Amino acid sequence: MSHVVVVGAGLGGLRTVEFLRAEGFSGRISLVGDEAHEPYDRPPLSKQILAGTWPEERATLHRGELADLNVSLHLARSAISLDDGAVELNDGVRLHYDALVVATGVRPRRLPGQPDHPELHVLRTLDDCRALRCSLSRARSLLVVGAGFIGAEVAATARMAGLGVTMLEALPMPFGRVLGEQMGQLCARLQTDNGVTIRCGVRLTDLVDSDGGIAAQLADGSQVRADCGVVGVGTVVDAGWLAGLGVPTASGLLCDATGLVEGTGNVYGVGDIAAWRHPTFGDRPRIEHWTSATEQAAVVAQRIAGAEITRLADAVPYFWSDQYGLTLQLVGRCDLATSVEVLHDPGAIKGTVAGYFADGALVAVLAFHAPRLLNRYRRLVAAGASEYEVRSAAAELASR
Ligand SMILES: Cc1cc2nc3c(=O)[nH]c(=O)nc-3n(C[C@H](O)[C@H](O)[C@H](O)COP(=O)(O)OP(=O)(O)OC[C@H]3O[C@@H](n4cnc5c(N)ncnc54)[C@H](O)[C@@H]3O)c2cc1C
Repeated sequence: MSHVVVVGAGLGGLRTVEFLRAEGFSGRISLVGDEAHEPYDRPPLSKQILAGTWPEERATLHRGELADLNVSLHLARSAISLDDGAVELNDGVRLHYDALVVATGVRPRRLPGQPDHPELHVLRTLDDCRALRCSLSRARSLLVVGAGFIGAEVAATARMAGLGVTMLEALPMPFGRVLGEQMGQLCARLQTDNGVTIRCGVRLTDLVDSDGGIAAQLADGSQVRADCGVVGVGTVVDAGWLAGLGVPTASGLLCDATGLVEGTGNVYGVGDIAAWRHPTFGDRPRIEHWTSATEQAAVVAQRIAGAEITRLADAVPYFWSDQYGLTLQLVGRCDLATSVEVLHDPGAIKGTVAGYFADGALVAVLAFHAPRLLNRYRRLVAAGASEYEVRSAAAELASR
């Protein structure tokens, strides 16, 4: 294996390069990224960097000099097509590869007909974060369209800076589809207890300029105005440039349990774009979590370097979100759950822990700022513990 090309210079791409070198891979590596910045971390973009409590440099992903990784960097360059074992970049460069790693992430979904307005934002990149931060610094009010995790974190950051925040959600409750009704309501309460106005079950018909700010027109005839807005309605896969692979890519790269894109012999998918076969459940979820990108990069690097694969990625996915000084943590696959049970109810949001079950087995646990409890449940999720085992563990933990 003499030349590995990694497309996507974000978390998954950079970690793949780092792990390849750590595994002793001594061949050529090229890293291509369409952003001008050196690889940086995205979670602080909706938290500390948006709030201005961290300098941007703190999000830099690689500790030390990138040059020490002996990698050819092609930053501010997009991969635009692929054929005959080569990736073509938008500056005309062709990179022939022996192995290709695709770690290009996802793009924010835009609303149909979403206007280009200087005070209306999406949030995926450092440049998006800078633009949103600039708007927030001048604004007294924020409109959040879509009550997902990005919207909830931006809402929290804006509220903590003193802005009035209104959230619009098409579904009957925030997070209901992901976390179930009861826990979705708790997430909504976290927002409303902190002064956010949430309007659920609304249909947005238009977003228009209003005195330099943004006004959302709703199907019931009402209007919500704010000085600036952010749209957080999910993500889309943008993999048109991979058409030459001749495999389906519209909903992500379909990979085996160690990252090889099925139907190819030397192309791997890492991070948000990759749908790996789950080692336990056999399905192929696309998991947009920080930890998954890192774990997948380690496995792909081991595979390319011909090293022993020491740990499968994504067996128990992990996600966190910081809102109003609380950290929400989720381990496992709540998308598989058929029932939800509150395991610890301290009578407040903080400390609440819920278990998600499928066919009587624990598939996920959600904790509202209860890291020690969450750690205890992690291994029960991994083991697919029964309801009886989980309830016994909950009783034992509560008695301590
Ligand atoms: C604001 C925000 C907050 C988040 N907070 C959390 C959190 O609290 N907890 C958590 O678990 N996860 C969080 N995440 C998710 C986490 O950051 C992602 O799962 C992770 O970044 C995925 O890494 P990746 O390498 O797949 O994609 P990315 O980090 O997005 O990197 C992909 C890179 O590839 C580039 N690219 C795309 N197409 C091309 C092309 N054709 N040619 C060249 N380059 C290309 C992209 O521009 C990008 O730079 C957050 C994400 C965002 C956006």
